[in-house]
Amino acid sequence: SVKARGRGFFSFYDASLNASNALHSELAARFRPAIQDGEFCLHFQPKLTLDTLQIVGLEALVRWQHPDHGLIFPGDFIPLAEEQDFIAPLGRWIIDAVCRQLAQWRADGVPLVPVAINVSARQLRDERLLEDFLGALALHGIAPELIEIELTESSLIEDAELAQRNLDALAGAGIRMALDDFGTGFSGLSRLKQFPIHTVKIDRSFIRDIRNDTNDAVIVASTISLAHNLGLTVVAEGVETRDQLVHLKAAGCDQVQGFYLQRPCAAAQIAPLLHKQFLSFQPT
Ligand code: C2E
Ligand code: MG
Ligand code: MG
Ligand code: MG
Repeated sequence: SVKARGRGFFSFYDASLNASNALHSELAARFRPAIQDGEFCLHFQPKLTLDTLQIVGLEALVRWQHPDHGLIFPGDFIPLAEEQDFIAPLGRWIIDAVCRQLAQWRADGVPLVPVAINVSARQLRDERLLEDFLGALALHGIAPELIEIELTESSLIEDAELAQRNLDALAGAGIRMALDDFGTGFSGLSRLKQFPIHTVKIDRSFIRDIRNDTNDAVIVASTISLAHNLGLTVVAEGVETRDQLVHLKAAGCDQVQGFYLQRPCAAAQIAPLLHKQFLSFQPT
């Protein structure tokens, strides 16, 4: 049977293999109808600038409201979507949904900030990626400066040529890129120069014990200084405590994102936050 992992989602990869395979097939068979039936939705998590704690961006995170299995998180279907050739249509739905949401907020008089879209390895190698972005931007009348792409180091390694072509074209169109989960891959510094990256997001595994683990603290400090020397912006992911926030501020980090500041939530809950520009919590 499916092994519950809390929060009402499951982990396919550690469930018993047969159940896992059956579930995989069941989910994969439902991918396409799920788009038509509106079962995918986006949550948004703010990114804040560390000096004023103002909201300077959002990250779009996809969820699947499955009729039988409840809310499924991306870790449990993005790898399957990649494997099953579904990532391109799902990616197109996500890009369109983000641009549509920005247009809706604008129509509602909500002050806009850039929204980051996660793009996975297979999507980066899709010949239509640029077209998908430009098409959605044009359809909804959104400026490319309002869109950011988040990619992981590992997605840049294989077939680097195709990825490079796509990323150069997207950057040329005015879309900014962030390197996600930084420090977990092993590409290192050369990728920062090779690709048109503007921002580095330090993976939350380095933030978790930053107060007690000297190695993590040194890695974070070095990453910040390296990124700044290259003219890049640094975001720390997974900030869950005030102590981590204080440490990151002292270390000169530019932006923060995490449950301590704001959990990902639906668009309706984000609009009032964008109106205020600041979160209502008191950080000190
Ligand atoms: P990611 O891009 O690194 O996104 C950050 C993940 O960490 C999100 O999980 C977010 O909810 C979670 N998170 C944020 N703050 C905290 C915190 O303080 N503590 C902890 N423990 N977690 C925090 P989520 O939404 O489950 O997404 C997981 C991954 O799935 C993402 O990692 C990204 O790689 C992928 N993903 C999410 N949405 C999309 C999408 O629209 N397209 C693609 N291709 N991949 C996506
Ligand atoms: Mg991300
Ligand atoms: Mg990340
Ligand atoms: Mg991460």
